[in-house]
Amino acid sequence: MSDIANAFSDEVVTNAYTKLVSVPGIDGQVALVTLDNGFDHTKPSSFGPAGLNALNAALDEAFDAKPAAIAITGKPFIFAAGADLKGVPSITSREQGLELGQLGHKVFRRLRESTIPTFTFVNGVALGGGLEVALHSHYRTVSTSAGALGLPEAFLGLVPGWGGTQLLPNLIGASNAVTVIIENSLNQNKVLNPKKALELGVVDAVFGSADFLEQSLAWAAKVLAGEITPERPEIDKGQAWDDAIARAKAVVEGKTKNFAPGPVKTVELLELAKNTDITDSASLDKGFAAEDEALADLLLTDELRAGLYAFDLVNKRAKRPAGAPDKSLARKITGVGIVGAGLMASQLAMLFVRQLKVPVILTDIDQERIDKGVGYVHSEIDKLQGKGRLSPDAANRLKGLVTGSLDKSAFAKTDFVIEAVFENLDLKKKIFAELEEFIAPETILATNTSSLSITKMAADLKHPERVVGFHFFNPVAVLPLLEVIKGEKTDDATLATAFATAKALKKSAVGSADLPGFVFNRLLIRTLGEVMNAVDEGTPFEVADNAIAELGMPMTPFTLLGLVGPAVALHTGETLAEAYPERFHNSPGLEALVEAKKSAVWSWDTGKQEVDAEVAALWKQGDKPSTAEEVLERTRRAFAQEIQIMLDEGVVAAAEDIDLCLILGGGFGFWNGGITPYLDRTGTSEAVNGKRFLEPGVASVK
Ligand code: NAD
Repeated sequence: MSDIANAFSDEVVTNAYTKLVSVPGIDGQVALVTLDNGFDHTKPSSFGPAGLNALNAALDEAFDAKPAAIAITGKPFIFAAGADLKGVPSITSREQGLELGQLGHKVFRRLRESTIPTFTFVNGVALGGGLEVALHSHYRTVSTSAGALGLPEAFLGLVPGWGGTQLLPNLIGASNAVTVIIENSLNQNKVLNPKKALELGVVDAVFGSADFLEQSLAWAAKVLAGEITPERPEIDKGQAWDDAIARAKAVVEGKTKNFAPGPVKTVELLELAKNTDITDSASLDKGFAAEDEALADLLLTDELRAGLYAFDLVNKRAKRPAGAPDKSLARKITGVGIVGAGLMASQLAMLFVRQLKVPVILTDIDQERIDKGVGYVHSEIDKLQGKGRLSPDAANRLKGLVTGSLDKSAFAKTDFVIEAVFENLDLKKKIFAELEEFIAPETILATNTSSLSITKMAADLKHPERVVGFHFFNPVAVLPLLEVIKGEKTDDATLATAFATAKALKKSAVGSADLPGFVFNRLLIRTLGEVMNAVDEGTPFEVADNAIAELGMPMTPFTLLGLVGPAVALHTGETLAEAYPERFHNSPGLEALVEAKKSAVWSWDTGKQEVDAEVAALWKQGDKPSTAEEVLERTRRAFAQEIQIMLDEGVVAAAEDIDLCLILGGGFGFWNGGITPYLDRTGTSEAVNGKRFLEPGVASVK
């Protein structure tokens, strides 16, 4: 076995079968190569070393038959989901990385350099290496049922390293390639649908799924007969290319501050592709060799290993939350009640009705607020209809399901009630007590509280076992995280129903103990606290705010403070300072900001970002400034300390859940794996807690 095959000893091999088919209108036969890993559509085909060798052998067979054309397609519903990344943690040398890159190029480029016309019929999902096979072919068709096409490597921390960076910009232009390879992938891994892929020129034709293969073969016959010549744009290799690269650099800088090596290297390769002539073998050699080198470097970075760890958390751990009771205990939800019709409640009404499609009833303190909440949901449904994402019938049906009532007796038929009224314990207790008069004993009482105790909220109820924390993040439609909080008396049926409901709402639930701030807010406030305290002590705002970019938060602390709202941050901070006075301190500067009702630290009044003049005047600063390095170090240490305490207190089941919350609730970078891989690799965990959070190799090379 070669070195690389050893690393991939667990590979689920995607085989490739060659069969000769006769097609009306084609003189001679078509060698049709079908990729198939032997499983059904639930396990997508992917390429590891053995899969690449299997494709190579199938191509040998195809070429030997001297066909009129060679076409690659996939088993039903899936084409290929890219490189098999399961072997990556076993890669220990640069040579193995090079070997993997070179093997892919060697096999795929046979399609590009073939003198026999080559086609790829993309019958289903084609991502990464899957799409690269298609790009190497001379012609491409795609089925309307192919749900996702894209090159998501940069998102994971890699480069599209089997030809993607050199071929795509030279097929569809640098600007469109930057959209697909950089912009889409760093935009939460956005993919193309067939229509968009056709529009951008990634594929030449789209056909319906029912007779996709027949139609693709018939189309190929016309191409071979010269009746159809797919349009290929003239590629502008001048200023347009440089402009596209400048845009790519700006996107990478904005999304990652250049701390993630994958996207940075991807842009370098796109830049290089300007000089690549994809019709010239020697020129391709150079471009592909650069891809191989980049891949070999990246495979041995901690950032890629952390990226794969993050990907696994989001795709696997998030789907089977730790601590969720057996799902057979979950009760069915046939009617939902929402108390409050404000900012969060109206977004919750929209989410529940759209995903559960059951009656949703809203209440508030007056009819006007109720009407506003119901009106919000109706207008959001109208927007979806306007975008063609709901038919007029479906939109009408959904609207009909959302009603409002001032009278809480209207909640009698609900089996899941969530409150999102003001953040006040007595008010929430009173509301739950009132509701108990009308609802069935098993109806769940969920609370969207950001910081109050679930146990205290349930304490005086007749049925405290039905109360559960169900903490969403704003904006609800965008942020996938949902913290599910178990109070002291919350029973398993309630908890199981909460987790099942989270899933039905397409949210990623993470279980949390009932301790102040739960998971995300506790860490956020601790972080903001370090930065604000540094400013209180005399560190300039600019220095403090830009000091912690390396932590991989999508925006600076003071920008985030403006988004969350200083008053909300102070309120949550006070709860935490009361519970943990030794580590959480109210910032006098923040208190002054809230008192003056200022909503942000930064002002753009002069056209550039400056500290708001009033804020500068009211935020009293001491005479002990820190350097940016010192602010970064104290924030890292605060993170490491707080996370360890949270694990000791049992707030979450494991460090992985902390990372999941930071990624899904706050957009923390994949290249840091959330935060604990970063704290481990910078030595902070060892320095603060005397141990790492994760075993070596879990989210790091060593
Ligand atoms: P909001 O002020 O926008 O809405 C609160 C609503 O509750 C108002 O419409 C108010 O009239 C209504 N209300 C007050 N007393 C009521 C009563 N007795 N009966 C019925 N309705 C009553 O507040 P919000 O920002 O939506 O926050 C609501 C809850 O969600 C809070 O517990 C908050 O901590 C939590 N939360 C907020 C955010 C956020 O970003 N805003 C995020 C997560 C959780």
